[in-house]
Amino acid sequence: MKPNLQSVLDALSARGVPSACPRCGTGDAWTAADGIVYVEVTGGHNVRSAALVCGHCGHVALHALAVLGLDD
Ligand SMILES: [Zn+2]
Repeated sequence: MKPNLQSVLDALSARGVPSACPRCGTGDAWTAADGIVYVEVTGGHNVRSAALVCGHCGHVALHALAVLGLDD
């Protein structure tokens, strides 16, 4: 299943993750890249991740869906 932006933001907020962009400091400017990013790991498996994009500076943040409880 493809997680939506709000479910990722809610999961991060529940864990106390600050909402401001770590690069430019803009708050609440995140958008989600459409789809799931597969981060290839040596050994042949992938980390299914959501990509959040800062709407101000373009910084891309990846969050592993399994850690957030959003991987199924
Ligand atoms: Zn930013």
